[in-house]
This record gives sequence, C-alpha cells and structure tokens, in this order.
Amino acid sequence: MPTPYDPGAYRPPALAGGASGPSHLRPLIDTVLGALAQGAAARGGPIPHGGPQAVAARLRALAAPVLPTGGTGAQEALHTLVRAVTEGSADPADPYCVAHLHCPPLALAVAADLAVSALNPSMDSWDQAPAASTLEAETTAALAALVYPDLPQPDCLVTTGGSESNQLGLLLARERARAAGSPGVHIVCGANAHHSIHRAAWLLGLPEPRTLPTPDGTLHPATVERALAELHGPALVIATAGTTDSGAIDPLPGIAEVTTAHGAELHIDASYGGPLLFSRRHRARLTGLQSATSVALDLHKLGWQPIAAGLLAVPDATALRPLAIRADYLNADDDTKAGLPDLLGRSLRTTRRADILKIAVTLRALGRDGLAQLVDDVCQQAQQLANLIEAHPGLTLYARPTITTVLFRPSHLTDSELATSRLALMTSGSAVLGRAHAADRLWLKATLLNPTIGPADFTALLDLVAHTGRETRTGRPPSNGQEPSTGQDPPGGNTPRTGQ
Ligand SMILES: *Cc1c(COP(=O)(O)O)cnc(C)c1O
Repeated sequence: MPTPYDPGAYRPPALAGGASGPSHLRPLIDTVLGALAQGAAARGGPIPHGGPQAVAARLRALAAPVLPTGGTGAQEALHTLVRAVTEGSADPADPYCVAHLHCPPLALAVAADLAVSALNPSMDSWDQAPAASTLEAETTAALAALVYPDLPQPDCLVTTGGSESNQLGLLLARERARAAGSPGVHIVCGANAHHSIHRAAWLLGLPEPRTLPTPDGTLHPATVERALAELHGPALVIATAGTTDSGAIDPLPGIAEVTTAHGAELHIDASYGGPLLFSRRHRARLTGLQSATSVALDLHKLGWQPIAAGLLAVPDATALRPLAIRADYLNADDDTKAGLPDLLGRSLRTTRRADILKIAVTLRALGRDGLAQLVDDVCQQAQQLANLIEAHPGLTLYARPTITTVLFRPSHLTDSELATSRLALMTSGSAVLGRAHAADRLWLKATLLNPTIGPADFTALLDLVAHTGRETRTGRPPSNGQEPSTGQDPPGGNTPRTGQ
C-alpha cells in the first residue's frame, strides 16, 4: 500500500549522479529488475491478452492516480508502474513477437544506457559532455568509415532514427540545391520508400516527391532514368536498402549509375539493411552504398540497441556545414578558440542524449565479428523460417527473404480472413505478426531480429498461425484471450516455449 505523504519528513529525493549516486541507484534498480521479472512472468507471452480496451483498462486501474496529491515514494512508484508497463508490454525478446523492425535490445546496451541516464550528458556543448562528445566523435568516425571505407573524411551524425536521418538527408540536399541557386530539389522515390520521405518533403516545403511504381517491391534503374529525364533542376533520388514491408534492397549500383549520369544526387535509406555492413557474408548486397550523398541507418533495428540509435552518414564532413549555427551560450567564439568542440552543428536538436555510449559499448564488447555473427544468425533464421513455410501444407510463402523479413499466409484465406486471423492472434496474446501488401494480396509479416530463437519456435509459431487461420475460416469465434489457454495442441500464448 502507498505510504501516506508526510510533509514533516520531507527530504529531497536522492540524485543519480556523484560518488554516492550508485548507492542510491542500487536498491532502486533492484526494485526495477524485480518488477521487470514479475511483469514478464505475469504476461507470460509476447503481448498482453485482451486487446486495446482491456489492456488500457488494466493499466488505468493500476496507474491511477497518475498525479496523486501526496506521492507514494520511489519504491512503490517504481514497482507499481514498471510492473504494470512490463505486464502490458509487447516484448520483442519473445519468440512470438516478430511483427516489426522492433528489436530486442542487448542487455549490455541497456546497462550502458542506464549510465547515460545517470550521467545525463547533453550533447549540445562540450561543457555538458566532455568525454561523451569525444566518444561520439570517435565512434561516429568509425561508423562513417564502415559506410564509406574508401573516403578520407566521411562523417556521421547520431539521430533518433531513420525518420530523422531521412529528413536530414533531404534537408542537406535542399541546402546544396539552394547554394547552387535553385529554390529547392525534386525528390524522386519508389512507391516502396518509407513514409518519412514524404513527411520530410512536406516539412521542408519541397514539392510532393515523384513516387515511381515498384511492382516487384524494388525500384528499377530504368524507371528512375525515365523520371530523371523528365525533370528539370536538381534532383535527389531515394533508394531503399531494406524496405520496411519486405526487406527488399533496391539495385543500388544501377540506381547510382543513372543518378550520376543525370547529375542527380542519391540518398540511400538503409535504416533496416545498413548493419549488413558488419557481415562479410552479406555486405556485398550493399554495394553501391558508397555512391550515396547520404545514407540513413538504424542501430535500433538490426543493431540490437534500445531506442533511439539512428545514424546519418555523409561522404565528407563538409557536407554537414549547412547545420552550423551559433548560440552564444553554447558555442561562443572564445569557447571555440579555446578548443571546445562545437557540437551544435551535429544535430537539429539542442539538448541531446548520449545515445553513443550504448552503441560504443556494443561495438567494443562484440567487435565487428560479434555483430556480424548476430546479423548472419538472424538472416539465416529467415531462410530457415522460409523453408519451414514452404514445407508446411497449410501455408504459402510470398518469396525467399532478402534480409530477415518473411511474408507468408495461411493458404486458403481471403485477405479479410487473414486480417481477422492476425488480430485474433494479437488480442489473444498468442503472437504478434505484422502485415504487408505485396502482389495485390495481404500477407503476414515476420520480421526476425531475435538471435536467441530457433527452429522449434518457428515450427510452433507456424502451427499456431495455420490453426488460427483454420479457425477463422471455419467461423469458429477466435479466442478472445479472456479465458485461460488450455495449453493444448497447438500452443497458445501461455505454453512454455524454447529459446528463451
Ligand atoms: C524504420 C525505417 C525508417 C524509420 O526509422 P525510425 O527509426 O523508425 O525513425 C525509415 N526507413 C526505413 C526503410 C525503415 O525501415
């Protein structure tokens, strides 16, 4: 029960920093870890059962009142809310939670992120982040060199993710066009491009992107060539290395060639596929990346970082000059002359979290080989899952996977039955699968980002999907998750599984 607030006993709450910070944190972290364990056990599956209304009602009941007159104290508040949010979470570490590019973060990266919260460096001036700013400079240089290995001075900004990286890519292109005397730049993208491209164009006051058809899910160089031939003025072509729907990689060398031939620029959205660069086995699929004037990549997808961990790489540090800005309180001339690095031009944000620490810890702990192994493993899993689908009597595979996205469907369902079936799996708390349209049909989407799961998990998941599909088709009311699972064949949401 909450302890009543006693104004006479008031002491300011303990701080996380300083030499005594860790001793204040330790018991609180114990509480958090306990609540995480209890909440996950109480959920017992990939997502809470009951669907949005039931989950919201449970959360509201546990979280009320959100602003009490007297507080309940650190231990109670941490336990109650962390446990409630954990029980009500979609857990990407669960083998049946495979809908989105939503990765299970590595424990070591989460531990590093805790240090960032405690230290709270702000990456907008050196005097708020003396060492973190150097770590960011060193780490982004190494990551930029991964994208542009043959260039002397590539650079890379830390962003909140692909959406911000894409926006920056478009902004830098617009500024280059303006510097050359044009009012703006034409954006040319495929229908397979991420929606953040369109939003960025809208936000930056650019004309609506010229969106080209991608009937097989990828953008063809000949299609780009025809579009560029009709355009006058500067153009920025957007290619995607790993589409959100199917993981498809556009033919980058061909697109780079026609783009160069027409004097246009190329931004590659490698938010998903970028980390293939770590892998000797897979990096050749990103050949052509070096031709881009900017590249977006995310480490909170195929990089196992807690959100946020985005990057925008550019071939030369000078490309970032348009972001330079002066604010006397953050980068006064005398500070800069005294050798304080000017951080303000490295983001559109001002106050900025040191997301680099978890990234740097991960790179150091795993090394390039360790990351390559993770990438190779999840790519291999996707091939295994595709094999199992091809061998399954009740399921149809859309196509062999390119990265780690597998599209499939129970064979005899209509699109609307498929949609119903997916929602039934989700609201019963049994499995979280994505959806995507391809070849004029709706498909279930499994995005594999969990290196710890294996074929036994896939077999059970596919049986569950096929079974739920049959139930949907025969009109048996899908389990609404209100009744406890019988645990009988096929497995429901609370059946023990391997791989965890
Ligand atoms: C995820 C994704 C984005 C958006 O990235 P966020 O990190 O969610 O902002 C953009 N493009 C592609 C291809 C993506 O997969």
